[in-house]
Amino acid sequence: MRYEKQTAKLTRALTGMSHSQALHMARTRDCERRNPVPDAHCAHQRAFEARLTFALIDAFPDNLQPPGAPWGIAAVRADTTSLDILPAAGICDDLLAALLPYHDRAYGGIRGASGTRVTNTDDGWWTLHDLDTGAQVRVAAPAPAIPHRTRPGVATRACRLITAPRLTREEHRDLSYFERLAQSSPDGWLEHRNVLGSRLLRRPGLIRTIAEVHGSANIYSHSSTDVVFEWCCGPSSDDIIRACRRAGVTADLAGHPLPGTAIDRGSDFSARLHVGRAELYLRHNKWICPGEQPELSAQ
Ligand SMILES: [Zn+2]
Repeated sequence: MRYEKQTAKLTRALTGMSHSQALHMARTRDCERRNPVPDAHCAHQRAFEARLTFALIDAFPDNLQPPGAPWGIAAVRADTTSLDILPAAGICDDLLAALLPYHDRAYGGIRGASGTRVTNTDDGWWTLHDLDTGAQVRVAAPAPAIPHRTRPGVATRACRLITAPRLTREEHRDLSYFERLAQSSPDGWLEHRNVLGSRLLRRPGLIRTIAEVHGSANIYSHSSTDVVFEWCCGPSSDDIIRACRRAGVTADLAGHPLPGTAIDRGSDFSARLHVGRAELYLRHNKWICPGEQPELSAQ
């Protein structure tokens, strides 16, 4: 019983789920101490969640992170087959605008998560699904919360795409890029990148830990192939490594070991955490601190 309560406490801190939900999952062994947030069991679901994560990383750079709500997410409800996202107050439209795909001519490609469509906007939930695989994620949003107001000129194109019956040419190009990349990468790389992306989306509490002192962390990616956490004050790199491990980011996947789970200490980065063949870089960088840049602002 003590084990279950401790697990549920961790689950709750990472997800924002209610105590009773978390305790129920601990009792049914859907979450455990070594991985306190359930993984999506289906590879298609993990792939879809990862695409959403990288869309959020792209849309919410450091200076646009709402304080205390990484990527605009206040909490999630996660189990082995589904994921529900609860946006922070006032950020719902921005969150949906970040997830829904649109063609950005200036950027020359798709912003948002390619292949995402909206199937339902009833009951206070938007159901987003992957056109190819049918994987689903729900976002709590009062209908109609269509993101008209967020980015001038974007909403119309986003709306047109999210009702399109098949992939547009740009979306197809975007998605096939990763398939090609996977062919020239180590075995399992894309699958492990999807595990990492899905796990981060399911753990908003972990991102809050990194950002706890200055309210936000700089989270970025090199072309959606890896993830970098950069922060200034507060926790040390070792604290964040421990937090990632405690949160189950490097845990085995449904009993199958993720090969290569290890830490490297690099020169450019404080540490590099392997999640199978995918990589999570940790960069403890005091120079991004608002209080550490007087010379820069004086120039
Ligand atoms: Zn700082």
